Amino acid sequence: MSIASGLPSPIRRVLQEGELVLEAPFTRRIFTNRDLAFDQISVIGFDMDYTLALYRQDELEALSIRCTLDKLIARGYPEALRDMQADPAFAIRGLVVDKTYGNIIKMDRHGYVGRAYHGKNLLPKPTRKALYRAQRLGTERERFAPVDTLFALPEVTMYAEVVDRIDQRPDLWPSGPPTYAQAWNDVRECIDQAHQDGSLKDLIQADLPRYFQLDLELGPTLHKFRSAGKRLFLLTNSLLPYTESVLGYVLGGQMSAYATWRDYFDWIIVGARKPEFFTGNQPFQELDATANPLGRPIGEPRRGRIYNGGNQLGLQASLGVHPDEVLYVGDHIYGDIVRSKKSSGWRTALVVEDLEHELGIRRDRQIPLKEIEQLSSLRISLADELSAQRYLSRLLARMTPDDLVRQGVAPEAAESLLADTRIQVRRRFDRLRKYEEEMATTLERRIADVDEAFNPYWGSVFAARRDSSRFGAQVESYACIYTSRVTNFRYVSPTRYFHSPHGSMPHWHSSAK
Ligand code: IMP
Ligand code: MG
Repeated sequence: MSIASGLPSPIRRVLQEGELVLEAPFTRRIFTNRDLAFDQISVIGFDMDYTLALYRQDELEALSIRCTLDKLIARGYPEALRDMQADPAFAIRGLVVDKTYGNIIKMDRHGYVGRAYHGKNLLPKPTRKALYRAQRLGTERERFAPVDTLFALPEVTMYAEVVDRIDQRPDLWPSGPPTYAQAWNDVRECIDQAHQDGSLKDLIQADLPRYFQLDLELGPTLHKFRSAGKRLFLLTNSLLPYTESVLGYVLGGQMSAYATWRDYFDWIIVGARKPEFFTGNQPFQELDATANPLGRPIGEPRRGRIYNGGNQLGLQASLGVHPDEVLYVGDHIYGDIVRSKKSSGWRTALVVEDLEHELGIRRDRQIPLKEIEQLSSLRISLADELSAQRYLSRLLARMTPDDLVRQGVAPEAAESLLADTRIQVRRRFDRLRKYEEEMATTLERRIADVDEAFNPYWGSVFAARRDSSRFGAQVESYACIYTSRVTNFRYVSPTRYFHSPHGSMPHWHSSAK
């Protein structure tokens, strides 16, 4: 609810027209894992790619795949790969690639693998269980590759395609197909090269409107922070020429008070090499606007200049505030959020674009989601009841008529009393089991419908069955707040207190009977 609701409507309109109080649409809300007093934040830092600058994911994926294919084919991969039909829905954030087996898996918060594909084929439950029952990510780091950013999605799509070709058409490789692990390394190296040698970025820069979303609220959002007295910095891994084109396009010219995109920021750090930026001690190299080095590398950046490289401690010293007065906004769960939270003491905001789709589905499917919740808890009660009845049947099976005679039952009646009771318990058990089976079928169907709406291959990015996914759990643990895009902050007053709804453990809610 907006602070203006309840006020006379002309007053409300004046406030809204002046954009002094705006109400966020449901899908653009900001969520809190750890309390954050926004008026105690005096410096806000931003990552660029997928944070300030949002890509058109389908276009970028198609381009990444094209550039990577060229490189793979140059390495001896079959031309036939060009026929691949990439489905942009196939790869989502938070998946993990099992290089040894050519599988792509989704885990829950405990590392339990709930869904897995071999190439693009869903693994049947028994195979999945046999492979991953005892497997936990982290036990074999070499074997598993996490998919942490939206940049990484095309490599997953390509890998699945390559795995399918290795299985179905090994003859396409005259001297034998690569192993699944080798294929992963090849795809990874080729995409890495495409990012670094200009093949991807030259094409992006040549057609920026094709590859970036233009959000006209970006300038006003940054301006609102500045008007509230907050200082801003840019901290990106991209190099200056690319940053210049991209921010020039998504931010430049939006507000007359800012001659260029650079004027929004007090400090500008490019080529930062996060996550090492947070732990290393590389110096800051000042650059002029055309990316030529100016002077010698230094240990602490100055306001109003542009630097390449650097490290968190040097930047922190220049910011001149306590680390917990700094909010860093990024999209990379590891490079931006986990590392900065662990090493810098900065507060963190994660941009998760997927959240907009997720919230839309949660809003539109409220009724089936509620039904799933109710059916699930009913199923738990039924499972409890069934196991109690099973135990009772076992006790009755061991009981003898003599036990009943000792309790005062007439000997001629004992046998039939026991038999009748056994039948009754059996019938009750069968009824409950039938009910449970029916309910499980309905529940499965409802879950499948909702999962299909989230993502036909994987379900929700944030959830795995009724628990958080591995990615969801990382968001919960490391991001103080999270939202779908930076411009959602436009709806937030500079004095907002972000309250975490959490603070509970299972035993806090149990009531003594
Ligand atoms: P950010 O602004 O800190 O998000 O940095 C993203 C930068 O990392 C962009 O310039 C990307 O091109 C680059 N990048 C993303 N994935 C890769 C990769 O696999 N290899 C090399 N660079 C990458
Ligand atoms: Mg980024």
